[in-house]
Amino acid sequence: QQERYVSLRDKPAQSTDGIRVVLSMNAGLMADLPSLESSGAEGVGLFRTELQFLTQSKVPRRGELARLYSRVLDRAGDKKVVFRTLDIGSDKVLPYMKPTDEPNPALGWRAIRVGLDKPGVMRMQLQALIRAAAGRELDVMFPFIAQLDEYREARTMLRAEVERERRLGHILPKAVRIGAMLETPSMVFAPDAFFREADFVSIGGNDLKQFFFAADRENERVRRRYDTLNTSFLNMIEMVVKRCDAAKTPLSFCGEDAGRPIEAVCFAALGMRTLSMRPASIGPVKHLIRRTDLGALREVIDEARASGAQSVRPAVLEYLLRRQY
Ligand code: PEP
Ligand code: MG
Repeated sequence: QQERYVSLRDKPAQSTDGIRVVLSMNAGLMADLPSLESSGAEGVGLFRTELQFLTQSKVPRRGELARLYSRVLDRAGDKKVVFRTLDIGSDKVLPYMKPTDEPNPALGWRAIRVGLDKPGVMRMQLQALIRAAAGRELDVMFPFIAQLDEYREARTMLRAEVERERRLGHILPKAVRIGAMLETPSMVFAPDAFFREADFVSIGGNDLKQFFFAADRENERVRRRYDTLNTSFLNMIEMVVKRCDAAKTPLSFCGEDAGRPIEAVCFAALGMRTLSMRPASIGPVKHLIRRTDLGALREVIDEARASGAQSVRPAVLEYLLRRQY
């Protein structure tokens, strides 16, 4: 099994009907980077930056972060790395943060909300990213954007830091792309301007699903009730695909479901063209994409939806098994 995946490493994730899907990997440590080659990932679609903050007893220093981010970019070479700014709060509480006693931390003061209300740490992190990317391209995405103005304020903050670095005479990144994670249903219905203005959008399916079904992602008992291939959830994903296509804004999916082969081919059939997942999932996902006719799968999904099925999974499984994958 593993060997079969190794032989796929340098082959594209292209469906039998010729649709090319980009498979990237999620990372969070320097030690994850060698997987870029071993898995055949086309880039890092999500670099989670929390770990460096969670493992220390005080806020890391700017220079230290800049060196780390720079090494990550060095190691990635020509492959793109998308850095996500600090996503703390909720389940990820920093040892040096004053504990906030919130009744519902997942719905509380977290991620970009902290970054915008108390911008010191986020500014420092943005400076470190800008310095690390001197002379290279920089892709930054902000987590947990729940309304358009949060994206705009975060973008303003990043642009101000770029301006500040310019004034200080530092070498700037060659290009800066500013993306947003789409993790709350509110953004599916955001004004068109959001999809036009964001340089790219990445669906954080773990959070999006928990908020869509109002089912805690950490609570197995409720989480398992709701299938990712539930018609309602797929309808929503498809809507995001259409809105991004209309605005010509690149879209990816970086939650855990992107690494599940059946889910991944269904997302691809609905028009998702970039998936980011843990490195070990790239082989299995690529294997299935390369054996699937995405256009035909799309028809199976559409028929199941039209028939009133709660989830398209039974129809999709039946179709894939019939084709003997
Ligand atoms: C997500 O919510 O899907 C995501 C990728 O972010 P995290 O799992 O870090 O919340
Ligand atoms: Mg998330």
